[in-house]
Amino acid sequence: MTEKWNNSTICVQGGFVPANGETRTLPIYQSTTFKYDTSEELAKLFDLAAPGHIYTRISNPTCDLVEKKIAELEGGVGAMLTSSGQAASLISVFNIASAGDNFVMMSNLYGGTTNLFLVTMKRMGIEARVATSDMTDDEIRALFDSRTRCFFGETIANPSLEVFDFDRFVPLAHSQGVPVIIDNTFATPILCNPFRFGADIVVHSTTKYMDGHATVVGGCIVDGGTFDWEKDGRYPELTEPDESYHGVIYTKQFGKAAYITKARTQLMRDLGSTPQPMAAFLLNLGLETLDVRIRRHSENALAVARYLRSRTDVVESVAYPGLEDDSEHAKAGKYLLDGMASGVVSFCVKGGREKAMKFMDSLHLAAIVTHVADARTCVLNPASTTHRQLSDEMLRKAGIEPGFVRFSVGIESAGDIIRDIEEALEACR
Ligand SMILES: *Cc1c(COP(=O)(O)O)cnc(C)c1O
Repeated sequence: MTEKWNNSTICVQGGFVPANGETRTLPIYQSTTFKYDTSEELAKLFDLAAPGHIYTRISNPTCDLVEKKIAELEGGVGAMLTSSGQAASLISVFNIASAGDNFVMMSNLYGGTTNLFLVTMKRMGIEARVATSDMTDDEIRALFDSRTRCFFGETIANPSLEVFDFDRFVPLAHSQGVPVIIDNTFATPILCNPFRFGADIVVHSTTKYMDGHATVVGGCIVDGGTFDWEKDGRYPELTEPDESYHGVIYTKQFGKAAYITKARTQLMRDLGSTPQPMAAFLLNLGLETLDVRIRRHSENALAVARYLRSRTDVVESVAYPGLEDDSEHAKAGKYLLDGMASGVVSFCVKGGREKAMKFMDSLHLAAIVTHVADARTCVLNPASTTHRQLSDEMLRKAGIEPGFVRFSVGIESAGDIIRDIEEALEACR
């Protein structure tokens, strides 16, 4: 077989393919280090002159097999697991930006990413410039200069559920000479392959649907292998000798996989935000059922969104890209598999913060947790939790209505989830 398998098959069988007599399931290489017969062989690894594992902080065979599966699912040339989604986002940008450089980010990114980019990376001397989708192309282009290193967006933004307009932003970023990095967490590689729409690098918080069971925090970076780093000398980290590896030039030695090789051999080596082999094993278990789960999440979420939409007596507004009259529906049809939009539905109950809290407290099946995107239905009201310290006015400025509820629809019976919502809406009338 040389044809690429369908993603539903890769989920189950990609990555680890056992040889004769080997374990049927992914083996866990629970070892910090690896033994070599001669110091000569090990020395070659330290010069990046031969492939192989040195130390689990940099790479590990269990993690390697899960990385292969995710790279196959996304259609990339290589992938690297990280200890969290945050670590993946940090390394994805830091790999090609240094103090004095800047990059452009969409305004609707996940709150943790926004904080990392605008506050913490600023302390590293890297400036994030914010683009919004209602800016004109000229206004966005004005954010770029010769020190701009990348453009960062989310396929389905958490929690606004805005769908990234690849056909608009990818050519725009490329015309400015920089790659597009996409956080594909909510869509997963099943609903969207950003590389097909011109993105260059993909990151994931695997903590969400990929693991899917709220079991293990993790992240991943995938390299599409398509960006031309050598074009205009903007990326010396990749095109000039790395003295810490005896003058290796990543683009010369690793070609299409230059970016992901440098992320591992240099940044993972130095920053050490490494996933444990056991975490990679658990992630792989989740990946095996990803295709089945994300379809069910999407189907259930559409039913829940339709129900909420019908309750105009108590529900102010509903956002779900799967709804025909949602502002994101056309983009969902264009970029997401069969228009499926994952399990997260955002809505506003009438009556603000107090009513939203009463509604959530009255739910039985849906649990109040600081999480999204796992098999069990869960719910969060940013106004009373993650954004608690903000006044109603400040919340609105941040784009969050006080009655805003982020509802993560699980894979239980849609009828049961809707009944739970119905009863909670009655209770807070
Ligand atoms: C949760 C999340 C992250 C951060 O991932 P962690 O695994 O929690 O570090 C990044 N992006 C998106 C879209 C997320 O939902």
